[in-house]
Amino acid sequence: MPGPGEYVPDATEGITRVEDLPKPKIIQRSRDFRRRPCPQCEHSSYRHRRAKRVLHDLGDLASGHPHDIHLTYSVHHCTKCDIYFNADMSDVALPRSHYTYRVVALAVRLVVEDGLPYQAASWHLWRDHRVFVPWATIQNWVEAGGKKGGGPHGGRLPRMGSGRVLRVHRGG
Ligand SMILES: [Zn+2]
Repeated sequence: MPGPGEYVPDATEGITRVEDLPKPKIIQRSRDFRRRPCPQCEHSSYRHRRAKRVLHDLGDLASGHPHDIHLTYSVHHCTKCDIYFNADMSDVALPRSHYTYRVVALAVRLVVEDGLPYQAASWHLWRDHRVFVPWATIQNWVEAGGKKGGGPHGGRLPRMGSGRVLRVHRGG
């Protein structure tokens, strides 16, 4: 066990083939219910089927392994409205996203608060959090957030001081 402040080289340094990277640890999560209220009419709607999505989460730096959440969720059918809807999983990830909220939040913060270029933010996420996010994906997240926020800085936030402050995510 290395002591505090001891330099520990990244074990993945120099790896060029993605199949040589550490395999993700699979974490099973569930949002699977027999009945859920319809989002339109509140009618208690039975489960129609189960589905699954894979979400890349913040990994484990101690073991070096990425974390993938295999999220099983129920799809419900409202017989009154004749619509299908998923069990609520908005606490974990946005619809259609391949990453958990906390990965998105951390990536956006690295760029917006700490002023890291997209490539550097992508590398930071891999090196220190063991989650691989292409830098163009981070750019999409930041630009999507900027449109929503707007604000007096015209999308550009003031840089922090010269010393970069790495904020620890509050977890979830
Ligand atoms: Zn309904």
